[in-house]
Amino acid sequence: MRLEEVDIDGRHCVNDPEEGPLEVRYGLPGNVEFCRSCVVSNQRVSPSVVTADTREGRKSTIPFKDGVCEACRVVAKKDTIDWAGRERMLKDLLDRHRSRDGRYDCLIPGSGGKDSVYQSHVLKTKYGMNPLTVTWAPHLYTDVGWRNFTRWSHAGGFDNYLFTPDGQVHRKLTELAYRNLLHPFQPFIYGQRHFPMRMARMLGIRLIFYGEHHAEYGVAAGEDESSLFLPKYFAGDPDGDLVIGGVPVAELARHGITRAKLEPYLPLRENEIRAAGIEVHFLGYFLKWVPQEMYYYAVEATGFEPNTERTEGTHSRYSSIDDKMDGFHYWCAFIKFGIGRCTHEASQEIRHKLLTREEGVALVRRFDGEFPRKHFKEVLEYMGNMSEEEFFAIADGFRSPHLWKLTGNGWVLRHQVA
Ligand SMILES: [Zn+2]
Repeated sequence: MRLEEVDIDGRHCVNDPEEGPLEVRYGLPGNVEFCRSCVVSNQRVSPSVVTADTREGRKSTIPFKDGVCEACRVVAKKDTIDWAGRERMLKDLLDRHRSRDGRYDCLIPGSGGKDSVYQSHVLKTKYGMNPLTVTWAPHLYTDVGWRNFTRWSHAGGFDNYLFTPDGQVHRKLTELAYRNLLHPFQPFIYGQRHFPMRMARMLGIRLIFYGEHHAEYGVAAGEDESSLFLPKYFAGDPDGDLVIGGVPVAELARHGITRAKLEPYLPLRENEIRAAGIEVHFLGYFLKWVPQEMYYYAVEATGFEPNTERTEGTHSRYSSIDDKMDGFHYWCAFIKFGIGRCTHEASQEIRHKLLTREEGVALVRRFDGEFPRKHFKEVLEYMGNMSEEEFFAIADGFRSPHLWKLTGNGWVLRHQVA
């Protein structure tokens, strides 16, 4: 049953027949719909936009057509893609950049997880490139994450620059992002995106590869689907309206964070990128990307090690396991959008025919939104010794009424995948 959508005093609401108007936050669709093919809902926010949000900012969500999400449609189309033709395009691109004297000719940002291992290794061994790997350090390395990071260089045979941002700045930004946006990962994402571009410019490298193509997650594909132009990716001008952690860059000085300290987090300007001749591409546009296969490849290439136990909030053991903050990133998204880590992973696996939809629904029902208890104490300490009470009170303030209902048994989702 579709609910009527109304605006009341400038707030977007859906009219619930029993409870009356329920506010719809973050510009999400008021009527919740689950994909008929995978388990994701139409509340899924584009990863590119989620980082630029403000408390009231409108979000771009995954498009649905005839009950099927964009990501499912993109993956289904993979079978019809001329992969041999795409590989020829890749070779042309690589030939334009390949160094003849062994100097770095491409840059691979990553952590030593399965995707970055695959990218760097296949470019080096199969396509004869000389990749430099660069890493923006996790907030708090897990033991398994550190071991995998080390293997990447040692067993994979790659030079790596590990950049660790000023811990005091990064902690403060993370705490602000949690308080203001319920998005503790946002400052990390800024750094992770922009620091590789700065490294490429500094070292005269003109080609950057990311892994999976974002259209898989439902971002509307542009004219040239293989490449990405980063300044468009983050709204805002670093000297003007750019916001990090929910605070405009100019105002962060009040929190003791100067503009100079923010430099590694900030995007280069369009003219700077053009002058440096930097191109950014997705390897997943040229080579068929199946997450599980990247895992097997990484095990073979560097001895990549999955976790010994299941990751909290989902059923897998090998995806995003290097940072103690990872679980909180997904849990916060679950609070804001009603879909968590298991929804994302199960949906990917359904799209790649590794799970049936029925199995995916069962996994989501069991694991989605599970609280990441394992590293909770350290994360609270990291975010300015926040108390548990305050942590949960902040989170509850971000529950959109159209998704959540407070009952005698606590908060429950109004809509769950079935
Ligand atoms: Zn879908």
